[in-house]
Amino acid sequence: MALGGNALIRKGEEGTIEQQFRNLAVPIRQIARLSREYKMIITHGNGPQVGALLLQQESCPLVPKLPLEILVAQTQGWIGYMIESTLDSQLMDLGIEFTPIVSLISYVVVDEKDPSFLNPSKPIGPAYRKKKDAPSGYPVMKTAKGYRRAVVSPKPITIVEKREIKKLIDQDFIVICCGGGGIPVIREGRTFFGVDAVIDKDLASAKLAEEIGVDIFLIATDVPGAAIYHASAKEKFLRKMSVMQARRYMAKGHFPPGSMGPKIEACLQYITSGGKRAVITSIEAIERAVAGTAGTEIAGMIDR
Ligand code: ADP
Ligand code: MG
Repeated sequence: MALGGNALIRKGEEGTIEQQFRNLAVPIRQIARLSREYKMIITHGNGPQVGALLLQQESCPLVPKLPLEILVAQTQGWIGYMIESTLDSQLMDLGIEFTPIVSLISYVVVDEKDPSFLNPSKPIGPAYRKKKDAPSGYPVMKTAKGYRRAVVSPKPITIVEKREIKKLIDQDFIVICCGGGGIPVIREGRTFFGVDAVIDKDLASAKLAEEIGVDIFLIATDVPGAAIYHASAKEKFLRKMSVMQARRYMAKGHFPPGSMGPKIEACLQYITSGGKRAVITSIEAIERAVAGTAGTEIAGMIDR
């Protein structure tokens, strides 16, 4: 299950820590209930948070600046802690004790020749009404939410800790991992080097889903699912979609980069690699999406 950064900070909110904990309880309560039936891997985004950390450090000239790779690691600790502690109390509320939970600092390998290094495509941090309102230092891109800073976002190749994650799942741990798409690293022989980028969490989660071989790949975000003609009068919600249809709508530009685009791409990647069920749903409707009554479902095996 991949949780959007919006599971913590809702549109229009200031994003205080109280608001973040309150928002997080909505998906986590459902995850706690589902854990009675399912083994669970939770991944999460960090777009709003990693952008906030960047702004924080830019506002302080007294300490050296940290590269994005370190900020991503920070968000894994920050959000991992928030998810873990919220899940712990929700499990307690349900009277489920002794469920082992672990959040894992995760590396994700990227290719140093990835063309995305030349083209910042991942929006991070707050959204601004006007382009000129965005602070300088990074390119700015237009998104459905407004103008946002953009950073480079290479494609995930493999999750370094996949074997460890599999072992933890086999031992009934709930695993929180690949936060913020994972810490991007380039492999040189047996060593890894961090790179200044933010991997898309939807694509990293799909890679993990594929490498672990999960039964359901679910992406929870702040809309009920994917639509065509999004944010227009012609908007039409898509309840079920074949791989062919998804590709066709993608080619027509219905799913923009940096938001719905990577979610659809992630589902397609998981399904075409042999995955069974991929669903994009809202944070409120996770349980209904698992039950098959909400969200946009990308059907597997129909027309590969
Ligand atoms: P997350 O933090 O969950 O990854 P994103 O902001 O990256 O969230 O993506 C979700 C957003 O995608 C929605 O808030 C919506 O505005 C936007 N979006 C863009 N195109 C579409 C579409 N075709 N259907 C639905 N939502 C879309
Ligand atoms: Mg996103």
